[in-house]
Amino acid sequence: MTAPSAAGTTLIEILTARLGPAYVLTAADDLEGHVTEARGLYRGEAMAVVRPKDRDEVAFVLRECGKAGVPVVPQGGNTGLVGGGVPYGGVVMSLTRLDGIREIDPVNATVTVEAGAILKAVQDAASEAGYLFPLSLASEGSCRIGGNLATNAGGTAVLRYGNMRDLTLGLEVVLADGRVWDGLKGLRKDNTGYDLKDLFIGSEGTLGIITAAVLKLFPKPHARVTAFIGCEAPYDALKVFQRLRESAGDQLTAFEYMPEFGIEIVLKHMPGSLRPLAEKHNSYALIELSSPQKDADLQGQLEAVLGECFEEGLVQDAVIGASEAQSQALWGLREHLSEVQRMEGGSIKHDVAVPVSRVAEFIDVATKACEAEMEGVRVCAFGHFGDGNIHFNLSQPVGMDKSTYLAEWERFNRIVHDIVHGMNGSISAEHGIGLIKRDELTLYKDAVALDLMRSVKRALDPQNILNPGKVVAIGEGGPTALPTKAG
Ligand code: FAD
Repeated sequence: MTAPSAAGTTLIEILTARLGPAYVLTAADDLEGHVTEARGLYRGEAMAVVRPKDRDEVAFVLRECGKAGVPVVPQGGNTGLVGGGVPYGGVVMSLTRLDGIREIDPVNATVTVEAGAILKAVQDAASEAGYLFPLSLASEGSCRIGGNLATNAGGTAVLRYGNMRDLTLGLEVVLADGRVWDGLKGLRKDNTGYDLKDLFIGSEGTLGIITAAVLKLFPKPHARVTAFIGCEAPYDALKVFQRLRESAGDQLTAFEYMPEFGIEIVLKHMPGSLRPLAEKHNSYALIELSSPQKDADLQGQLEAVLGECFEEGLVQDAVIGASEAQSQALWGLREHLSEVQRMEGGSIKHDVAVPVSRVAEFIDVATKACEAEMEGVRVCAFGHFGDGNIHFNLSQPVGMDKSTYLAEWERFNRIVHDIVHGMNGSISAEHGIGLIKRDELTLYKDAVALDLMRSVKRALDPQNILNPGKVVAIGEGGPTALPTKAG
């Protein structure tokens, strides 16, 4: 914990008087879970964690922090993967008490939720009302809607339903000066000028604090089929994807890619998991079709397309989940892949996107480039193939010292991100910029776009008190030089 200055002590007294002592925390033990991030890469410091109960208290905290010139770093579930929620001085504002689900409007097909609602709770509330809220992430049991919005979260259902930006109709945001923008409208059409909500979605807490949102709901799927295919190369998987999209359209809800190395480490570290196909293949895809129609013949459609692809040699082998349990076991292989990489030592990670038409080429070219750069490096390129979003991760060579390997992070960034940039892609597909990619953004983002981003930041947060030093660095505040990644 940072020892507060005299002005800081006064601020804490003012905040405590309004929020109550239980909701202004300064003890080191209470701060611990708020000054590090999910992967333990960064460790920051804060003078206090404040836990407002509603929008008015959020506005009060921002006004008082503004007067004292003290930074505020918003946090939801603190599951972000780019160091965006790590404080470097100032106050952490935890939104967890704003967790209400205010209204479900079945005719408008919307749910109005507060920013601190846990994603899983929103999915469950929608399901109980007979609807689907489709955002789905491995962290859904702990991440919160405000964090999902602030990072424009993606996940496994983007192919069909889009990312958080696509799922949002309205927002309520408290600005740096404590004013409240009430944009909680559930409108599908609203051409009354600039789309302000899109400024705040993906802004990672640097432009305003999101307190509530109106989100889209969808009909629940009543039919679902899952398949797992093995291919010779990612190029074949891409052709299968294209065939399925042409024939199944919107019913194609997931097309997730995995390499043989990924399957090997899941089988090695996850007791009870089984190799789904008899032989090993270089590339695999997990495919899901779903439909709100109970009697939709999804299996028939899938078998027809995969049969054609098999005849043409695009698919070497395939299995279709014969029961819900089998389908879940197939999904389990994909879902466990993120966590098992940790058990293979150091992992250098890249969350990148390229046009879908170039996703196979990207995997091929980047894999060869990294393998040529370091003998024994183990490429684990997996993820949301159908969105053009690959988690291009590199596990350390067996037996190499972990910290020596992780010291090569920037060198591999340059190789991978140069390839991505050359394919007109993005160095951050779904996790955001935060701290980890802040300085690299200046290498790859269009200079005019960066200039506009800084202008927006200055206009909305002239004092630079909202999560300073993240996404784009302007002026003082937050870390000016990037702190070292811890592990
Ligand atoms: P936090 O980590 O608390 O905050 C994230 C950022 O948002 C920070 O910059 C913070 O300052 C800001 N913020 C938080 N709340 C607010 C608010 N109310 N107003 C303004 N700013 C705010 N992400 C994906 O997109 N797709 C995935 O598939 C995915 N899988 C994951 C799997 C695991 C196991 C883990 C640990 C993470 C994964 N993530 C994924 C990353 C993470 O879960 C998402 O970024 C999530 O959306 C963050 O939500 P959160 O509540 O934890 O936000």
